[in-house]
Amino acid sequence: NKQIKIGIVGYGNLGRGVVSAIEQSSDMVVEGIFTRRAPESISVNNPNLKVWPISQAEAYKDEIDVMILCGGSATDLPEQGPQFAQMFNTVDSFDTHAKIPEYFDSVNKAAKDNGKTSIISVGWDPGLFSINRLMAEAILPVGETYTFWGDGVSQGHSDAIRRIEGVKGAVQYTVPIKEAVEKVRSGMNPELSTAEKHLRVCYVVTEEGYDQADIEKKIKTMPNYFADYETEVNFISEEELKEKHSALPHGGFVIRGGQSGDRNKQIIEFSLNLDSNPEFTSSVLVAYARAAYRLNQEGQAGAKSVFEVPPVYLSPKSAEELRKHLL
Ligand code: NDP
Repeated sequence: NKQIKIGIVGYGNLGRGVVSAIEQSSDMVVEGIFTRRAPESISVNNPNLKVWPISQAEAYKDEIDVMILCGGSATDLPEQGPQFAQMFNTVDSFDTHAKIPEYFDSVNKAAKDNGKTSIISVGWDPGLFSINRLMAEAILPVGETYTFWGDGVSQGHSDAIRRIEGVKGAVQYTVPIKEAVEKVRSGMNPELSTAEKHLRVCYVVTEEGYDQADIEKKIKTMPNYFADYETEVNFISEEELKEKHSALPHGGFVIRGGQSGDRNKQIIEFSLNLDSNPEFTSSVLVAYARAAYRLNQEGQAGAKSVFEVPPVYLSPKSAEELRKHLL
């Protein structure tokens, strides 16, 4: 059996995660990494990995079966998604929820016109959480669905604190509020705003000569980010920040409190508890790269979301084997 040849576009957290996920997938191999930076400036753990300038990607059109796009959702993917879908089968983790329909259309056109297959917005949210929301709502049409995130680092909120004058370093964790989770798990189907579901816990290092009480106030009253939430601010040393808060854990749960008949409660819960958000997201991307390759071999060109990819395509095993052992 031929190995599926994978290219990686962009070498940040997800790019590194894709390399380690493929090391655990014997049916795939990394052909090379494409970057906008000078290739010699990129340090890769495995000396066998090749790094090329992104401008040379087109030359590998016939070598690479699937390109995994590991750029950021804000500015990289809106450009790279449709551009690469013209030349390669692609998978990406576009997560700007409000812009997904527009992004889908632009990637779909590029892929369809060129006979390629692109799976967009792959990961855990959007991604595995989306599939679980869909299944829960299809199965229990009467009920409420809740998504909780955390405990996990929010990159956007951490950056917002770092922009305050006098702040040297900061990490912000989004933490589900226990009472809210318990109410939902019990099937009470409470009405909860996002702020009633999550707590914001901040670890902050300040520059010398700045008033911590003043910085705490600035954080807690910051509109859009913190003002509407219960926010806890902890001042710590630079060493402690580095030692205890450098990892990128995350996770969360999707819960549907539904009802069948006229009074039977039916609760569905899917949860993730992740030591490394990027490594997990990359593992999901790699499984969907296998699907993109197979769908393309069957001639299914165009863009797809995770909703439109049957689970059998994700597994390295055949449908026959899966029916025998997993059903
Ligand atoms: P990074 O910031 O680590 O990397 C993004 C890009 O920035 C890379 O592709 C790389 O491109 C460039 N880059 C990386 N490191 C450096 C550096 N030191 N200096 C300059 N440029 C650098 O982002 P992540 O990999 O953490 O995340 C990418 C996206 O994944 C996020 O924007 C998010 O939207 C999405 N995501 C989705 C999830 C989901 O569940 N759907 C979950 C987690 C993330 P290049 O090599 O070309 O320079």
